[in-house]
Amino acid sequence: MHGVVLSCLQPGEGPVTPADFVRVLSKPLGDWAPLDGDMVPQQLRQLIVLQEDVLTDEAIDYGSEYTEALFDSDGVLDTGQQWLPPWSHQTREQAERSAFTAISSGSQAQYAAGRRMLIEVPTGAETALLMEYSRRGSPRLDVYEPIGGDRTVSVGDRKFWWPCPGCHYPMQVHGSSLRCQYPPHSVHRYFLQARGKGQAPEAINGPVSVTRMDAEGIYCLRWGVWRFIGVPGLAEVLLIDWLNAKPGVTAESWPDKDAYDIGVHMPDGQVLRVDLKDVADARKIISDPPAAEHIVVTDHYKATAATLREHLPKDRYVVHTVSAFKRMITTRLRGSR
Ligand SMILES: [Zn+2]
Repeated sequence: MHGVVLSCLQPGEGPVTPADFVRVLSKPLGDWAPLDGDMVPQQLRQLIVLQEDVLTDEAIDYGSEYTEALFDSDGVLDTGQQWLPPWSHQTREQAERSAFTAISSGSQAQYAAGRRMLIEVPTGAETALLMEYSRRGSPRLDVYEPIGGDRTVSVGDRKFWWPCPGCHYPMQVHGSSLRCQYPPHSVHRYFLQARGKGQAPEAINGPVSVTRMDAEGIYCLRWGVWRFIGVPGLAEVLLIDWLNAKPGVTAESWPDKDAYDIGVHMPDGQVLRVDLKDVADARKIISDPPAAEHIVVTDHYKATAATLREHLPKDRYVVHTVSAFKRMITTRLRGSR
């Protein structure tokens, strides 16, 4: 691996020996690899690959983006299957392919219902999931599986899990700590405090605690579906609901089965086409620009908005943060009254 990294760098750059290489993996990437250019996001410069000999969530996040190139168009990996870790097989593209094949086969209404279910229902018992499908008019999706052992704690013959307060997906257990793997939710970190013998531990962070749930018969979204469709969609449904609550405004969810994210119909008849982006790295958006004219970036990635503004054609795109976009809508509505 050391040789692979050196082959990507100029002579004289990077860690000299394999031992140096291991040491620098727990330092920010920008400290030891030349990451020049204004397109390189700050988060990538600050990325730490290993922490206490374990891959960090941020490294897995970036890794998932790039392992896609190793798979062919049928999602089959011809080489390297043995050495790649399991998470690498659930890349964005594969998660989308398996989940979207099912929801795309029905009508537009079924598509939007299915997509929203993936965002709003990350976990549930079998009967509760079946009720959600029929209540929402969503097609049945083969995307739920029992909660994995890395997200539960066993006490006797029972298993427990804790939902992230931000997205309700089961938090990952690392020894005696718990955290959500979605980087913007990394503030949700808890410690497992032992209680009496035979009792499940309590998840606390200072005065805050999270309710413990019984894992018996509970299913959660497959990791890749949650990470690439479910949790990034939270910002989309929040914005759609905010827009629909405005008098005279109708927000269409994922029109034409996701030609773009939101169609905003204003009271004066204008239609704004919106694509919402929740990513740290602007380069993928620049190399494959969206269909909609309005690109709205989540507030926690506002650096992405600045890079997009600089590199996308100004006569084709308007780039906003979510807050700035809401301000613009509010101002327009005031003007049309
Ligand atoms: Zn979360």
